[in-house]
Amino acid sequence: MSKKVAFIGLGHMGGPMAANLARAGYPVTGFDLVAAALDQAREHGITVAASASDAARGADVVITMLPAGRHVLAAYQGPEGLLAAAAPGTLFLECSTIAVDDARTAHDLVRAAGHRGLDAPVSGGTAGAEAGTLTFMAGGDAEDFAAAKPLLEAMGKRIVHCGGPGAGQAAKVCNNMILGISMIAVSEAFVLGEQLGLSHQALFDVASNASGQCWALTTNCPVPGPVSASPANRDYEPGFAGALMAKDLGLAVQALESAGVEGRMGVLAEEVYRRFAGGDGADQDFSGIINEIRANSKA
Ligand code: NAD
Repeated sequence: MSKKVAFIGLGHMGGPMAANLARAGYPVTGFDLVAAALDQAREHGITVAASASDAARGADVVITMLPAGRHVLAAYQGPEGLLAAAAPGTLFLECSTIAVDDARTAHDLVRAAGHRGLDAPVSGGTAGAEAGTLTFMAGGDAEDFAAAKPLLEAMGKRIVHCGGPGAGQAAKVCNNMILGISMIAVSEAFVLGEQLGLSHQALFDVASNASGQCWALTTNCPVPGPVSASPANRDYEPGFAGALMAKDLGLAVQALESAGVEGRMGVLAEEVYRRFAGGDGADQDFSGIINEIRANSKA
């Protein structure tokens, strides 16, 4: 018999992820604070609970897909929290993007309450959540990873066991730090090329076949033209929003500080994206950073 799933947080990501689990035959009971999210969930065959703890009662697996670490830790704890409501031995899958330290705290709380847990953040965005093609980066015991894998496969295409507690969030934060820094580097190079009289296509043709090659250039190219599917061709409609990049780089800076790593480029990238997200960039694709770099350059 399929495992009973409680799904807490049915937003842009959690909604379609829960729908994919229901489509795969799992009995899913969901909860969100927003009524519209609950209505949509019902349409996808999800049973709606009156509270998060009601959803967790009698579940074999509790999945959380919430905005930030403080929401996760608050939802887990207290007499009305998920950890108290769930039967001993329940598997907790924490899929939100949260700080590595918060993920480790969540693991400790889960274990202390007699449950099992994995951090399993995702990449792939809302398109990946809808298509069931997310990448999951998991941290926790091998046995718990094996138990979670079939569920993760119903929501994703690539499922990677990264190591012990917190390793999934660590992989996510490190990857997105590379992405934020490399998008700024590619954007600065295009703006410099413009000032030096180099066409976008010429720079793309050289760099995409040379040592400047990277995802920020060849898939999410910040100028319109060279890569027809990149957000630059549709007025920087996301994609991956500037606000989410700013959030993830904030987590990277937290991790750098906590681990005592220098990370000057990561810190700078966080500053650049925080400013971008504080202005027009919050809802734009993060590659829209090129327009800010251009605007800040002497014409
Ligand atoms: P979202 O804001 O659309 O969804 C979060 C949902 O959680 C909301 O519907 C909110 O009402 C609900 N919520 C908050 N507190 C709650 C509580 N106590 N009980 C029940 N529901 C509660 O955000 P999202 O885009 O779905 O992102 C969720 C997580 O996934 C975030 O951590 C984000 O960083 C991460 N993520 C997002 C993307 C993306 O492209 N959107 C990609 C990868 C990872």
